[in-house]
Amino acid sequence: MTAKRIDGKQLSDAIKADVAHRVAALKQSGIQPGLAVVLVGEDPASQVYVRNKAAACEKAGLHSEVLRLPADITEERLLRTVRELNLDNRIHGILVQLPLPPHLNSARVIETIAAEKDVDGFHISNAGLLMTGQPLFRPCTPYGVMKMLESENIPLRGAEAVIVGASNIVGKPMAMLLLAAGATVTICNSKTRDLAAQTRRADVLVVATGKPGIVTGDMIKPGATVIDVGINRLPDGKLAGDVDFDSASEVAGAITPVPGGVGPMTIAMLLVNTLEATERYAARTDG
Ligand code: NDP
Repeated sequence: MTAKRIDGKQLSDAIKADVAHRVAALKQSGIQPGLAVVLVGEDPASQVYVRNKAAACEKAGLHSEVLRLPADITEERLLRTVRELNLDNRIHGILVQLPLPPHLNSARVIETIAAEKDVDGFHISNAGLLMTGQPLFRPCTPYGVMKMLESENIPLRGAEAVIVGASNIVGKPMAMLLLAAGATVTICNSKTRDLAAQTRRADVLVVATGKPGIVTGDMIKPGATVIDVGINRLPDGKLAGDVDFDSASEVAGAITPVPGGVGPMTIAMLLVNTLEATERYAARTDG
């Protein structure tokens, strides 16, 4: 069997085109959605992500601002910047690019973002809303995965979903979204005793560990849908996911490539979240 390749680039382009239409409609009523991206320091991967996010905003007609702050900024100064953005009426979404330099407390910085502008969905109140089934913002990467599963008509109700990785930004919110869709969810972490025994049960397998090749074809149930969230830079400079694509493709029913899979979806969903934050802002200020 050769798995169907799920094209995240194509789907993300369609979502971004829809966002551009809705942005144009909002502009007619005098509101342009605005996203502020805060980048602290010079991390090369973060710089690429931030550039891509700003370019996608521009293309879809959103206003975007990148605030580049020095790596040695004090926490107080960074918090002040976030508070200023909270009060800025041109900004409807705020994103602080992670990871932050180690002297900064990421949790405190994220908690300082106004929850209604927290387009990454990492604020503790947004995490709580998601967990209790009343999401305001769905974190962009898992949200993008859900859109991919939906577009492929992958059945989730009653399905066995296994997630490898339990981070606050991918694994845990992914579990909440799959659970809300009716899947039976297992979350694995680095202490999981027999990873292959877990992954082999999965109808839907989502892998987000940052460990290239951690999942191979022999760990996959025939016909399963495999979503590879990992983005790893190999020693030869190439990008690779967490799943061994070649062996997995021989067993899976459908699989996402890296690059061209989940990555572009994450950016598209950031635009969706910023647009929806703006639409809610417009509804509040109209009333
Ligand atoms: P984290 O490092 O925060 O979390 C990794 C998770 O994987 C942890 O829960 C860890 O377990 C688990 N893990 C590590 N080793 C194993 C193992 N051997 N077996 C089972 N579980 C393991 O990573 P992120 O969630 O932030 O990111 C994961 C990957 O996804 C990275 O490659 C990142 O670059 C990529 N990513 C891609 C995005 C995209 O847009 N496509 C967006 C965000 C991330 P434990 O909790 O026990 O430590």
